[in-house]
Amino acid sequence: MTLKNKSSLNVKITPENKCSFCHGSKCCSYVTEALETPRSKYDYEHLLWQVSHENVQIYKDDEGWTIMFQSKCTHLQQGGRCGIYEVRPQICRDHDNDYCEYDEPAEKSFELFFNDYESLHKHCKKRFKKWDR
Ligand code: SF4
Ligand code: SF4
Repeated sequence: MTLKNKSSLNVKITPENKCSFCHGSKCCSYVTEALETPRSKYDYEHLLWQVSHENVQIYKDDEGWTIMFQSKCTHLQQGGRCGIYEVRPQICRDHDNDYCEYDEPAEKSFELFFNDYESLHKHCKKRFKKWDR
């Protein structure tokens, strides 16, 4: 059942049932890794290479630069259950659903977001006047 359907049934959302309402189990559908703040043309060239790959995105928020791989966890089961719940990695145990992507899309806090080569290349040309020379 989708989130929309459940909401329309006026089911009270609690920390215990919230994840079952979350269509696609958002927090289990990607991997992120913090990046050094890019400064030089060389740094940006490197990011251009990374973001040229399928399902790779780069963003900057108030914590800095991050690379994100849109890739669903292989342990995610039909219905949103974790297939290794009892032994899931620590980062999954630490993740709190108190205020998560279900409540507000992560994109809302992005200061910069690059979804492909073109978007980052545009940014590079703005940031470095002599980018193409
Ligand atoms: S923690 Fe939040 S984003 Fe993750 S599955 Fe639960 S409701 Fe969805
Ligand atoms: S191990 Fe389980 S909780 Fe962690 S990302 Fe995969 S499905 Fe989600």
